[in-house]
Amino acid sequence: MVLKDVFKRPLLDLRISVTDRCNMRCRYCMPREHFDNNHTYLPKSDILSFEEIVHVVESLLPSGLRKVRLTGGEPLIRKDLHKLIQQLRALSPELDIALTTNAHLLSNSIELLKQAGISRITVSLDAVDTDVYQAMGDTTSTPDTILDSIDKSLALGIPVKVNTVVQKGINEHQIIPLITQMSSRDVPIRFIEYMDVGATNSWNLDHVVTGKEMRTLIEKEFGTIQSIEPDHPSDVAREYTTRSGSVIGFIESISNPFCGDCSRARLSANGSIFTCLFATKGFDIRGILRMDASKKEISKAISSIWSQRKDRYSETRSEKTDSERIEMSFIGG
Ligand code: SAM
Ligand code: SF4
Ligand code: SF4
Repeated sequence: MVLKDVFKRPLLDLRISVTDRCNMRCRYCMPREHFDNNHTYLPKSDILSFEEIVHVVESLLPSGLRKVRLTGGEPLIRKDLHKLIQQLRALSPELDIALTTNAHLLSNSIELLKQAGISRITVSLDAVDTDVYQAMGDTTSTPDTILDSIDKSLALGIPVKVNTVVQKGINEHQIIPLITQMSSRDVPIRFIEYMDVGATNSWNLDHVVTGKEMRTLIEKEFGTIQSIEPDHPSDVAREYTTRSGSVIGFIESISNPFCGDCSRARLSANGSIFTCLFATKGFDIRGILRMDASKKEISKAISSIWSQRKDRYSETRSEKTDSERIEMSFIGG
């Protein structure tokens, strides 16, 4: 039976954070002054094993789960991630298994991920200009490394999408060069409005470039863009196509929220279920997992959490930010 929340939204998509650590320090996500040597990351013993993650996913398949997305933190710093994908793939040939990554470590692991049965990859890339990329990500890596990994993934036949967070005064001027780079590869790109997630990035409405503003900028360069019907109502990106056929999406959590069809739950690296990206608390299921709960018991626990879900944060947000909010690197982006 399909799980439905208070607003009749099904649970179709589980985002699984496999680690709260990362090899970048994006200013909008893990600013170095907060995520430095004094920051306490989860101890290894708190982090769910691959077997525990697989147990959770298996318990949700009968109630309609159709997609999992491995994320973090940076999922590729979790050792042997391909083995988790292998185990998930063994559950069902139909399960959509996606990965969101900054792609620093993608080149070396891509063949293993492919063999393990990954369905698709989303690569985060905020700029093609090296200085802008390095400043936003607080990294010494270069966009060329990321473009190379995209090319390697495509060469293996793995569908790739690119995600770009746009911050006012920082990288709007990268929108056109990014579209040009991705069009030449036939890779859809999605521009994300900078969100007020977490409590460390000093988010302010003035730093947001809205989807509408981005579309105006894009139309000046490429002419009118046409909106495309979504494949599924729960798709987070609103997609458009340019006259030459490039696909451009916008994730407008701030200016055009999409809570009405939100069918996503998050599983944090330490085994808590969060029913919204902006939740201030999760529901621990590691406890019952480690007491050898059966699939039926896990499913029952998650059903009871989901059936009480009323989250629609993006539709009700105000400019006031909540200091208790959980960091995206912890909850899973
Ligand atoms: N480390 C991986 C990566 O960057 O792709 C996966 C985790 S990251 C938290 C997932 C996505 O969240 C990335 O595409 C990132 O750009 C986005 N993100 C992080 N903080 C954000 C914010 N404040 N507003 C909008 N998107 C954000
Ligand atoms: Fe790391 Fe991804 Fe957050 Fe950047 S957005 S700091 S790559 S988790
Ligand atoms: Fe879903 Fe929460 Fe985002 Fe709304 S704010 S779309 S309920 S995760």
